[in-house]
Amino acid sequence: MKVLVLNAGSSSIKFQLFEIAGWSVVASGSISRIGEDDALLNFRWVDGKGQSQQLDQHHPIASHQAALERVVAQLRTTGALADLTELHAVGHRVVHGGEAFHVPTLLDEDVIDAIRQMIPLAPLHNPAHLDGILVARELFPGVPQVAVFDTAFHQTMPRTAYRYAIPDALYREHQVRRYGFHGTSHAYVGKRAAAMLGRSFDRSNLITLHLGNGASATAIRNGSSVDTSMGMTPLEGLVMGTRCGDIDPAVLLYLMQHLEMDHQQIDQLLNRQSGLLGLCGVNDMREIHRRIETGDAKAELALGIFCHRLKKYIGAYMAVLGDVHAVVFTGGIGENDAETRTRTCAGLERMGIELDEAANYAETRSERMISAADSPVKVLVIPTNEELEIAQQTVEAVG
Ligand code: ADP
Repeated sequence: MKVLVLNAGSSSIKFQLFEIAGWSVVASGSISRIGEDDALLNFRWVDGKGQSQQLDQHHPIASHQAALERVVAQLRTTGALADLTELHAVGHRVVHGGEAFHVPTLLDEDVIDAIRQMIPLAPLHNPAHLDGILVARELFPGVPQVAVFDTAFHQTMPRTAYRYAIPDALYREHQVRRYGFHGTSHAYVGKRAAAMLGRSFDRSNLITLHLGNGASATAIRNGSSVDTSMGMTPLEGLVMGTRCGDIDPAVLLYLMQHLEMDHQQIDQLLNRQSGLLGLCGVNDMREIHRRIETGDAKAELALGIFCHRLKKYIGAYMAVLGDVHAVVFTGGIGENDAETRTRTCAGLERMGIELDEAANYAETRSERMISAADSPVKVLVIPTNEELEIAQQTVEAVG
């Protein structure tokens, strides 16, 4: 039996099909630029002889419906999913579950309605997820479908961590609070870290750092999220590719007053033109390193600010947790960028964090420990796998 994981965005659908026995990936890929004349289907699968195959095709694809139909047709012709009866369940990534969803949830009319009601909290994401869910229900009638929320893992945060110090009514009447995101990734690497440490997850205290284009840090106590850096939206916290992260809210007032910016301009500025991009003109960390090599002062400063912010969060979460077993790096930057890890951990020896630089710089992509043998707090690099986590949570939810 197989499980299909879908991540529907506003103009794209990403998918992965897993064989439940052994959790191997049978097929994966994406359709991007939905709604345009040159939408791109990228499809990878393992053929009958066990060989990996890949297909890239440009087509006009008008809608999410057409895109998913195209994926299903491809799954059938390649034999990845020869018959729909092989499909045990479909798992949908949903960014925002608000306060309603603490666990992966079997989709029915009420759940769909609740996701719809959360659109004001995630205006870009939830409508696209709903599109994907409705189309999948049509294409796979009778197959159980599960919503796996990015926010769910963080629903264990105490009020002291999730409430903002603003008037109570804004929380009660308008749901203004910290929700946190990347929950699937933090949960996945957290469980893998516990396994590497030989501990049970529910007895592990961890600081997990998901550093991709979006970036967030989470404090995990006994397997539960107790604080996280992203807030009501993914804008808060760490420096990101194009998002500013933490900033004095009065900066917004200043921009409104003195530069006469409206809310759309400020949204663009802080979400799309800030972060690494705003600081040095590029948001790709590899390019930032290339520029640093050539003596680019702005790129050097961007990396410096990125690592300084990260270090502050590690310190804060060590204080929140009191006792930390491991710090975990994941995401494109966390998994691949040894220099970011070195700069971030530099000077934290007195806090029990000491790297083994040879291990840190070793050319390997697998899960590994990069702390010195006698470092009281272990430092781990763990490639994230949100799709696998969604697949496993989906199967668990279906029972
Ligand atoms: P997304 O959040 O879009 O899924 P990723 O997790 O793929 O992003 O991370 C993207 C970031 O990872 C980019 O800044 C990219 O430059 C960085 N990255 C990827 N590979 C490397 C590498 N080998 N060294 C340093 N940074 C890398």
